[in-house]
Amino acid sequence: MSMIQGQDAVKKKLLTAIEKKRLPSSMLFLGPSGVGKQMMAWAVAQIFLCENPSSSQEACGQCGNCHRVALHQNENILFVEPRGTAIQVEQSRQMIEFFSSRLWGKARFIIINEAHRFNVQAANALLKVLEEPPPESYFILLAPTKAGVLPTIRSRTQVFPFGTLPKKTLQSLLQRTDWVIEAAHGRMDLAQTLLEKEEWRQVVFGALQELLKTTSPRKAYAALEENIRDSEFALFAAQVLQLFFRDVFLRKRVPGCSVIHKDQESLLQAFVQTFSIEDILTFFQQAINLEKAVHSHWDKGLFMDQWLHQIEDLRTHQREGV
Ligand SMILES: [Zn+2]
Repeated sequence: MSMIQGQDAVKKKLLTAIEKKRLPSSMLFLGPSGVGKQMMAWAVAQIFLCENPSSSQEACGQCGNCHRVALHQNENILFVEPRGTAIQVEQSRQMIEFFSSRLWGKARFIIINEAHRFNVQAANALLKVLEEPPPESYFILLAPTKAGVLPTIRSRTQVFPFGTLPKKTLQSLLQRTDWVIEAAHGRMDLAQTLLEKEEWRQVVFGALQELLKTTSPRKAYAALEENIRDSEFALFAAQVLQLFFRDVFLRKRVPGCSVIHKDQESLLQAFVQTFSIEDILTFFQQAINLEKAVHSHWDKGLFMDQWLHQIEDLRTHQREGV
């Protein structure tokens, strides 16, 4: 548990409940992905299952049970996540069976990932045991928002809210202080995705460079063309562009203000000087539209083409002094 960073409030709440032997038997950990909900769930289970706990609040991390929890292979923990698009009724039956068999250890846990994806039938099958699990048996459900969880499930659980991670936590976990920290919105999973896609990010900024340099944005399009039909790239590009144009917009309003893409200072300044606020807002809106285009399965290539046409027109007008 001491390994988990950046969720001090919820950690304290859980540890106090454990200390007082008042841990709710059905818990709902709510919060965005990548902020440590699942890690916390395994850590809570580890405290209960540890053979040599150093205190009532800390597992030893060394014993056989601790090791098996760390490997996610402990026989007293059942981990469940949606099969296909939803948690199915067979999975609920499996959970009921797990809790109705004889208890061999000190406690047992069912951790349910993406608990907002229960189908109604599966949820109904589970309600009774969720309402009142057998002694020493705990449910920990994980979900992004309260709204997504079926009311019948929600009403039978106690909510533990998880916030996004503070910047300093991300900095210490990732050992860096650059744009990734700013752009990750306090989510470790997002930070890791951004890091994996550094190359893509350079492609996007390369295209923006072309946009400034050339008299025709065609070259900018050429820089993107190879990748843009890949939905994953298009979505990533749309998000990077949104953040970038947001930065440009802020800089136009408040010169010198702090921005997300700190390493793109010269590109940022060039956009600030070249385009008007209205232009920047248009670009920003287009980046949002690109994201929508990806989600709606429109032709991204065609979409980019139209966008660049628009920018081309804009630059022609600029040159003509209109
Ligand atoms: Zn242990």
